[in-house]
Amino acid sequence: MIHGYWLKTLGIAGAYELKDLTPEAFPAFIANLAGNGYVGGNITAPHKEAAHRLVSGRDAAAEAIGAVNTLWLENGKLMGGNSDTHGFIANLDDRAPGWFVPGCRAVVLGAGGAGRSAVYGLKERGAEVHLVNRTVARAEELAARFGPRVTAHGFDAVPRLLREADMLVNCTSLGLAGKPPLEIDLAPLKKSAVVYDVVYVPLETGLLAAARKRGHRSVDGLGMLLQQAGFGFRKWFGGDPRVTPELRAMLEADIVAKTPIS
Ligand code: NAP
Repeated sequence: MIHGYWLKTLGIAGAYELKDLTPEAFPAFIANLAGNGYVGGNITAPHKEAAHRLVSGRDAAAEAIGAVNTLWLENGKLMGGNSDTHGFIANLDDRAPGWFVPGCRAVVLGAGGAGRSAVYGLKERGAEVHLVNRTVARAEELAARFGPRVTAHGFDAVPRLLREADMLVNCTSLGLAGKPPLEIDLAPLKKSAVVYDVVYVPLETGLLAAARKRGHRSVDGLGMLLQQAGFGFRKWFGGDPRVTPELRAMLEADIVAKTPIS
């Protein structure tokens, strides 16, 4: 829907389509991407780490995160990037301008794929990141990879960490439709703190509803999805794919129509 909207509104002849590949078929397919009729693509589970190994060059985010989710061709060479970091930060800049305050401290919940992208993006912008994960060893592994501005914690540290935080980000799958809710007491959080949930089904998660009621600036995950799509589109088709109110409304309507009423 997203790429189709931009192709149509920008008047570009092209298509964005699904391709189902086994891990065995994946390397040969991407090695001959142009021959298979493609200018690039997005990669999803379970191929992101294989893509990271197989490309000829990577952007800094993909290099640091260890996963490639976007492919494109540059002078005939297969390149790999990670659009989630770009989408995460572009959405934050768009929806909460001025979020970076001197000495900015962010608490990120979740050390999976989304958490990695968020931590890398926040750290690159100069924030101090406190990464909380159910499996603490996973957070510790990331903290060791990303250096001293990233520290690892378990959920028991959240009330203490929130007192000092300028931003709270949910990158767990908690709060996603069909998953258990994210149960966090926002009381220790200062009023100026931004609350960001990368989950976008439902559009307003329990976390974002609680943040709105307390008067926090809140950022939803749909903007991240849209902004990360723009990253790939520019590489493949060029042009200026904008996240317009019309595009957002189209996606919102689709999500609402497909979200089960809880
Ligand atoms: P993932 O790699 O599978 O990671 C899942 C994370 O959730 C892990 O940190 C996991 O902790 C945690 N978690 C799962 N169940 C939990 C529970 N019961 N209690 C505490 N923590 C729990 O998934 P992902 O790719 O990072 O995606 C996470 C969410 O972000 C999904 O809802 C996805 O839809 C969303 N997302 C949004 C965008 C966007 O563009 N807006 C992009 C990517 C992802 P453990 O390590 O302990 O298992």
